[in-house]
Amino acid sequence: MKSFINYSADSDFSIHNIPFGVAVFAEEYIACCTRVGDLVIDLATLYDYGFFDEIQGIDENVFESYTLNEFIELGKPVTNAVRLKLQQILGEDSLLKNDEKTISECFYDLDQVKMMMPVHVPNYTDFYSSMEHATNVGKMFRGEENALLPNWKHLPVGYHGRASSIVISGTDIIRPKGQMKPPEADMPIFGPCKQLDFELEMAFIVNKNTEMGDSISTAEAEDAIFGMVLFNDWSARDIQSWEYVPLGPFLGKNFGSSVSPWIVTLEALDPFRTTSPTQEPKVLEYLQFEGDKNFDINLEVYIQPENGEENLISESNYKFMYWNMTQQLAHHTVNGCNVEVGDMYASGTISGENPNSFGSMLELTWRGQNPLKLNDGQERKFINDNDTVIMRGFAEKNGVRVGFGEVSGKILPAI
Ligand code: MN
Repeated sequence: MKSFINYSADSDFSIHNIPFGVAVFAEEYIACCTRVGDLVIDLATLYDYGFFDEIQGIDENVFESYTLNEFIELGKPVTNAVRLKLQQILGEDSLLKNDEKTISECFYDLDQVKMMMPVHVPNYTDFYSSMEHATNVGKMFRGEENALLPNWKHLPVGYHGRASSIVISGTDIIRPKGQMKPPEADMPIFGPCKQLDFELEMAFIVNKNTEMGDSISTAEAEDAIFGMVLFNDWSARDIQSWEYVPLGPFLGKNFGSSVSPWIVTLEALDPFRTTSPTQEPKVLEYLQFEGDKNFDINLEVYIQPENGEENLISESNYKFMYWNMTQQLAHHTVNGCNVEVGDMYASGTISGENPNSFGSMLELTWRGQNPLKLNDGQERKFINDNDTVIMRGFAEKNGVRVGFGEVSGKILPAI
């Protein structure tokens, strides 16, 4: 499959991708959009021109919206049909390539476009599904013996996070203030967090509302998952380690999370399916699943100091996840908890076995014991003021590349 739009071989936004987002075009007009190469394509105007007329179920122009919620709620029969139609009309044999009016009205260069949050997020949950990450954190805080807690291999551990502070890539994050208790101190202190960290994660987005009492099985889960984004779950380690007992993450987490602007559909990720790590002991029946439910997605983290260059500090992969998305959603709803359109479910920090694949500074520097050296000679134990953290993700196989672009965020000094 080829497009009449030119793009480089390493573009995340090949014709195989067709992700969905929401953009401000030319600083004046907001609509849902897709992207091929470095062109952003206005779907609302394409709709008005009749390009989606033959697709059943889009009676109104759902692309004329500030979020994708209405569109994704139409469900896979409609959203998949739209994606396939876009591949056809943007394909190399499409008549659209000679349609100068439509191209001039619907196609925008990247510099004419500002991306917005792709969905309104009613609820956000963060899992803890990488065994390597959970083991590393367990070793640091509890020692080698009891690194993994007894429940970890029996259920996908998670907590309810804060949806209000999820922001789009490029949004500055203000260093949080809070209570911390340094190990040597008798009493807690208050001030700007000193151990600001990122967490390399991905999140999936749900396309339906369910009733309280309903459950989504592992077999039904993928039909309810529209797609995925990159997710940086910013974390204040010193606030977190003092506050988290016994109820879990709170102010060390809820000051901000950053997401990438393009939702890549599960259908675009289909060629990159792979097996999951073997689950031993065997999980309970409601967590069992059939088929390849994991995805081979390369992940990278960079630190860019103020006025400095990008430093690659971690290379991980989504395929390391012990618990997959279908298990996470089945577990989340097995008690009858209802889900809502636009809900985000983050994976938890994605670490691999090798120290250069760890997904947080906490692990990369082993709680600050082994600082990272940057290219310009500076050292980092955690994230400094005015540092930008950039995460990138892409899948690639047999010459086909489907990627997420990036999620970036700059840390500003505490107010
Ligand atoms: Mn997290």
